[in-house]
Amino acid sequence: MLAGCPPLPAETIALADARGCVLAEAVVAAEAIPPFANSAMDGFAVHAADVAGASVDAPAVLTVVATIKAGDAGDVALGPGEAIRIMTGAPVPAGADSVVMVERTVVADDGATVEVLEAVEAGTSVRPAGDDIAIGQQVFAVGDVITPGHIGVLASLGFTEVRAHRRPRVGVFSTGDELVEGGLPLGPGQIRDSNRITLLALVAESGFDGVDLGCLPDDEAVIAEALERAGRECDAVITTGGVSMGDYDFVKVVLDRIGEMRWMQIAIKPSKPLAFGTIAGGPDEAPAAPRVPVFGLPGNPVSSTVSYELFARPALRQMMGHAPSALDRPRVLAVADGPLRRRPDGKTHFARVVTRYEDGVHRVTSAGGQGSHQLSAMAFADGLAVLPDGDGVEPGATVEVIVLDGARR
Ligand code: AMP
Ligand code: MG
Repeated sequence: MLAGCPPLPAETIALADARGCVLAEAVVAAEAIPPFANSAMDGFAVHAADVAGASVDAPAVLTVVATIKAGDAGDVALGPGEAIRIMTGAPVPAGADSVVMVERTVVADDGATVEVLEAVEAGTSVRPAGDDIAIGQQVFAVGDVITPGHIGVLASLGFTEVRAHRRPRVGVFSTGDELVEGGLPLGPGQIRDSNRITLLALVAESGFDGVDLGCLPDDEAVIAEALERAGRECDAVITTGGVSMGDYDFVKVVLDRIGEMRWMQIAIKPSKPLAFGTIAGGPDEAPAAPRVPVFGLPGNPVSSTVSYELFARPALRQMMGHAPSALDRPRVLAVADGPLRRRPDGKTHFARVVTRYEDGVHRVTSAGGQGSHQLSAMAFADGLAVLPDGDGVEPGATVEVIVLDGARR
């Protein structure tokens, strides 16, 4: 699957839209941060030598000659025996080498002089130019993931856009004659389509751009048309339903015809059936367009979420430019607070669990019913416990847990 999902090309992305994107070009500072030496405190800019030996009992008395606030050019100079009132972020004037915080000063009633109650070393409460970032410094490397912190640094350097890998446009459709959209009344034998909106939410949570391709009937022609549209408009497609062994599993039939597919029965539970392959991509006139990967996920609601997590999400993260080590969710070792039972069946099971972190130890309990149709436990879960083949995990035993984004309560 990873081989079928190469990284998308770089594009220019507005900084405000870049959170979670992966840098395709290194970032080099053309400016220093801070751009000029400035005060870290509200107080008085002084020459340290003028306040040497000052104390509460023997203050140094200096003449106040000016006030500099943040935003002032600060083009005043400090002479011997003088102090300049200065605000946090204001430029430190020529001749000053330190700032005494206002709490350690007493200003005369007429404001003309100030008593400094302590000595300071040169450099005290001054933030030198380039103290954080120097001109010419490489700040970020190719492959770095843009966090809010990166956005702050880039903004302070004057960047309004970055070169980063494009977010994959991921088309999602559900299939099934039994499915009803939205709040429409349920007829006999019908259920509501929950997978499509869930998968679109997972796609958004992952930082990809979701494209809703609709809720489709078990109809070969309709499914073929949707896949062809997805090939033209999307970088990847996720389908749900219709990939098992049933007589009406037409996603499988269509993909066999128009795609290069691989059908899998994976030794895991939930999510045993899985289809992966590629279909032709791009507009019809563009024969060189990259092929579009298709993830055919099973229809059972828990299965579709778990197979998204295990298979689609890592591969799509690779398309977004993430490094091999950053494709999978983090895992922790946790102590089972209650039993996580299962039967031996030759498969690895992924149990929906609730995690908590207490006294330096991760702990997990079952999030509820573990059937692949029981979606409520998926909603409560913030982890998937990996249960190797066997009878499960006894209370007090250690289990590996895939950490999901989720509501901790
Ligand atoms: P399938 O993979 O098409 O055989 O579907 C397996 C099970 O999942 C069946 O019980 C379906 O009714 C159910 N199912 C399929 N698609 C959805 C969906 N979009 N939302 C909720 N349940 C679904
Ligand atoms: Mg079906």
